[in-house]
Amino acid sequence: LVRLRARLSRSQTALGKGLLGLLSRDRLDDDVWDEVEESLITADVGVEATQEIVARLRERTRVLGTRSPEELRGLLTEELVEALDPGLDRALKRAGRPTVVMVVGVNGSGKTTTCGKIARVLVADGRSVLLGAADTFRAAAADQLATWASRVGAEVVRGPEGADPASVAFDAVRRGIEIEIDTVLVDTAGRLQNKVGLMDELGKVKRVVEKQRQVDETLLVLDATTGQNGLEQARVFTEVVDVTGVVLTKLDGTAKGGIVIAVQRKLGIPVKLVGLGEGPDDLAPFEPKPFVEALLG
Ligand code: GDP
Repeated sequence: LVRLRARLSRSQTALGKGLLGLLSRDRLDDDVWDEVEESLITADVGVEATQEIVARLRERTRVLGTRSPEELRGLLTEELVEALDPGLDRALKRAGRPTVVMVVGVNGSGKTTTCGKIARVLVADGRSVLLGAADTFRAAAADQLATWASRVGAEVVRGPEGADPASVAFDAVRRGIEIEIDTVLVDTAGRLQNKVGLMDELGKVKRVVEKQRQVDETLLVLDATTGQNGLEQARVFTEVVDVTGVVLTKLDGTAKGGIVIAVQRKLGIPVKLVGLGEGPDDLAPFEPKPFVEALLG
């Protein structure tokens, strides 16, 4: 929790301070509630969710006649946790050897970095990991992934520049089976030229991989700083591949942590992990209560 709090940007915990400040006003009148609403919308919680949260908070404070800052903080925490926790399963899937994980998302969202960080967590947990560099579109992506592999002690399979992503993914899984790797993480390219192109490419990667092994998990990497726009792009991926979890990156660089609520509501997919920086240890499992507590500072 301490680390999480330290990593969430100051501007983000400012949201919490702002909200708590508003709630400690002498009168909780319409203006105050409007400001609470505004703060939440500014933090990317989304209009609908914000209205629900504020309506419930308002009703509960009225019924309870609550005025003490501690109680109000408690209610706010409860409402935010409730909004963040619709009983979704956040554990990363573990299947037979190898467990196959596809990592998808728009270029620049932090896919390659996230592959490296996940590999690090798994290796630290005693699992062997192979990284497949199927992002053959971005020239430096395979180098970057190979650097992560050697940094965290994972294997890597890469193809020549411009190789067919599906064939690299196929080779990675084949190699993973051959050397009995626990988890194969396949880094993919996220060219958003159009939905058909993306569907063709990611669909093909998946089909080809599944000639050998089923894909157990498809993680969508989403840059938290892109806010509601990013959500629209994310939707395209969920229409193209069967996304089983979201990794929300760059939460350290935004005051818009409310996006977690919006992502889960709009996409109906659990946020499983959050990225809190560029370093190898800057990845955390997403847990609603510690997250809200860190947010409120
Ligand atoms: P890709 O194109 O999706 O593979 O994206 P990269 O993994 O290359 O990441 C793009 C940039 O975002 C790099 O400079 C990363 O270091 C940075 N990045 C990735 N995740 C995070 C994060 O959680 N926080 C911050 N601050 N930067 C990140």
